[in-house]
Amino acid sequence: MIPSLGLGRRLRLGMVGGGATSLIGDSHRVASRMDDRYALVAGAFDIDPAQGRSFAADVGVAPDRAYDTYQAMLEGEAKRDDRCDLVAICTPNSTHYPIARAFVEAGFSVVCEKPLTTSVADAVALVNAVKERGVLFAVMYGYTGFPLVREARAMVAAGELGTIRVVHTEFAHGGYAAATATGDAPPTWRLDPAIQGPSFALGDIGTHALFLASYITGQQASEVAADLHSFVPGRALEDNAHVMLRFDSGARGTLWASGVAAGVIHGHRIRVFGEKAGLEWHQSRPNELLLLPRTGRPTVIERDTRGLSPLSLHRQRVGAGHANGYFESWANIYSDIADVLAARLMGRAPEPLALHFPTVLDGARGVKFIDAAMASAARNGAWVSCAW
Ligand code: NAD
Repeated sequence: MIPSLGLGRRLRLGMVGGGATSLIGDSHRVASRMDDRYALVAGAFDIDPAQGRSFAADVGVAPDRAYDTYQAMLEGEAKRDDRCDLVAICTPNSTHYPIARAFVEAGFSVVCEKPLTTSVADAVALVNAVKERGVLFAVMYGYTGFPLVREARAMVAAGELGTIRVVHTEFAHGGYAAATATGDAPPTWRLDPAIQGPSFALGDIGTHALFLASYITGQQASEVAADLHSFVPGRALEDNAHVMLRFDSGARGTLWASGVAAGVIHGHRIRVFGEKAGLEWHQSRPNELLLLPRTGRPTVIERDTRGLSPLSLHRQRVGAGHANGYFESWANIYSDIADVLAARLMGRAPEPLALHFPTVLDGARGVKFIDAAMASAARNGAWVSCAW
């Protein structure tokens, strides 16, 4: 059971982008509604205003809160006593910064898609704006809501693996393996630098892999050495990235992000090795965490079973043995945000276990990582600082 927010109402969610034809809008809507903590009340859902209004009607948003542009939404919502408590930004990458900055400066809390921005300068400006306005700002690295990813974090923090030595993190799929402009994927802005930003593999999925590693180990990468390559002729952006990582603690790591891992459907996984044991988790089998002790038998840890940490157990909707997946992971992030927003609205301290959603700083670190990896690749793989 998920405990009540104690607010006496649902939080009011607004959305920019995420319209009828979008890939990711549904994930935000399903995840935000799973625990009944949000009502979708406003939106500028589509770059095409007519499509956006029609979609708003389909999802039950009142006509006076179905806006043609994000600027109109900002103006309209800012005037209302019942303004949105949270604005989800689900638009293509190059639009994140202007939209997020405008809402933050008007005092709205935001959950933004990744990558946070397409330049380090914009990421720095956004971090500063969030600090100045004191709003909540989350970034949708949705995979760190999985209960067993959280268990892995708790196990590392409790010293069960000993000092962390080696991390291998990857997000490598085959969606762009075909030798055509868009691979096997439908035509999209993803390979267009003007919208995607300066990197495809790292920008689209590599920052998920980086954040998963930072979240589980509790450590930040401080230097990178990268080899970025495009296998398909004519692509302006890399479709494969190998990055070596040095963590601030002294641990070493590798990150592989790819769109040309032919045959792989999703391909997000991580392996972490300490002096006493290793851990392995694969997003396609999210209810199993493999523990590899240096001595003794390997163990498969299952979700919601005896002896797991409070961090892993505190957001369970169905017991062990029932499939728990992607939407639940995202819902955990949305519910963490809800707990913290409600606590702010009621002037009380948030539940510490809710402080596990990725923040603007986590998003900004991802942008810095991309920039450093590109600088490294341009210097034939030299080590470059990515410290924030
Ligand atoms: P998409 O092109 O499928 O959809 C984008 C939506 O935004 C469309 O509805 C479009 O009409 C709308 N839009 C575009 N510009 C707009 C504007 N200025 N105002 C209002 N609406 C606008 O894109 P997508 O694949 O859904 O990706 C959107 C974002 O989500 C990207 O930043 C992407 O990197 C991110 N994403 C994240 C994950 C994740 O796992 N967190 C997964 C997929 C995509």
